[in-house]
Amino acid sequence: KPTVAIVGRPNVGKSTIFNRIVGERISIVEDVAGVTRDRIYSSADWLSHDFNLIDTGGIDIGDEPFLEQIRLQAEIAIEEADVIIFLTNGREGVTDADEQVAKILYKTKKPVVLAVNKIDNPDMRDMIYDFYSLGFGDPYPISGSHGIGLGDLLDAVAEHFPEKGEVDEEEDVIRFSLIGRPNVGKSSLVNALLGEERVIVSDVAGTTTDAIDTTYEFEGQKYKIIDTAGMRKKGKVYENMEKYSVLRALKAIDRSDVVLIVLNGEEGIREQDKRIAGYAEEAGKGILFVVNKWDAVEKDEKTMNRFTEDIRKNFLFLDYAPIAFVSAKTKQRVKTLFDQIQMISENHAMRIQSSVLNEVIEDAVARNPAPSDKGRRLRIYYVTQVSVKPPVFIVFVNDPELMHFSYERFLQNRLRESFGFEGTPIRLITRARS
Ligand code: GDP
Repeated sequence: KPTVAIVGRPNVGKSTIFNRIVGERISIVEDVAGVTRDRIYSSADWLSHDFNLIDTGGIDIGDEPFLEQIRLQAEIAIEEADVIIFLTNGREGVTDADEQVAKILYKTKKPVVLAVNKIDNPDMRDMIYDFYSLGFGDPYPISGSHGIGLGDLLDAVAEHFPEKGEVDEEEDVIRFSLIGRPNVGKSSLVNALLGEERVIVSDVAGTTTDAIDTTYEFEGQKYKIIDTAGMRKKGKVYENMEKYSVLRALKAIDRSDVVLIVLNGEEGIREQDKRIAGYAEEAGKGILFVVNKWDAVEKDEKTMNRFTEDIRKNFLFLDYAPIAFVSAKTKQRVKTLFDQIQMISENHAMRIQSSVLNEVIEDAVARNPAPSDKGRRLRIYYVTQVSVKPPVFIVFVNDPELMHFSYERFLQNRLRESFGFEGTPIRLITRARS
């Protein structure tokens, strides 16, 4: 059963929310006996989901200083919970203590859902925008005392629950997958990456399970290769069906941090390669091009450059993805892929401080003034990063209609030049500041 923890500084309404969610489960008898008030842990349910709920605010930390209490409560939440509800108070806006909580929560890879309490009526919804700056995506407006918005909040929380039967994903593991059309050498590359003697997947498991991942350690870093069993277990007729392989690829992409798009150096780029790359691009994953079978290519000193140009021409929107030329057969440069994957996964998870971010954007606007239309100029008020994997930035402006594609591209490039997001897409979302 998944565990959900509510964290937040004092007086944001944690126990009110806790009691609302736990609801009628706690009997009146208990209530009369005064049990409810001290309750910090209870089972709860939402639609078909059963889960445990913790109110970390109720955990007695003793006489520690204020900030220390907040820190400990947040750390308990990180330790104990599968999903964390970060509760704030819309009437007071973002406070220093909220930022302290956020700072601790940044350290976890566990999902954090941000809720803004005390939004008692629709007119108060504007108060939630401030909370984007905490960096946990869309804030959910709720009212504990009126019981408003809890449904949406719990839907968002339940989305992060592990599928039944799915094991919890380990932290500190970089997950990657190899996609590409049949016969480009994906399975051979997986074997080369693992080293023949290291094959952990057993055939028995492979025949009964749809997807088997292989965890592998290289130079102190753990990697998980997604769905290698599916690749290893060949010969079924449907393996070569486009729809099936697309589904396979999509599932693998979805579970990856970094996707290796494998191309065949001998044959060059085909239409199907572009379609496959399109899926990876849409999913917002880190991307590395791997040109395989380089041993079989007749080359001179220009061949690599020519192939690079070909890739850039054919995959215009993946200009941030590095390219590796390898041979699964001779193992040439195969080990260098680990370094590349690690670098890309770091960039994919990079978080930029708002102050630094805004300096870069101000500087960019000073060099290349924002566009205007019919006498109205685009004004950029503030930029904030709202998520990682991939990095997403919200640009608050006077009127989103004034943001042109080319200017957005310019800002993206400035961010790339300043922070080096090699191998990862970054997204800009333009919003009107009300
Ligand atoms: P997959 O369908 O993408 O998994 O491709 P496979 O790994 O099954 O490889 C398809 C064929 O290409 C096999 O006959 C491999 O032996 C061959 N192959 C794979 N990698 C290389 C390579 O680096 N160089 C050469 N010359 N052949 C390779």
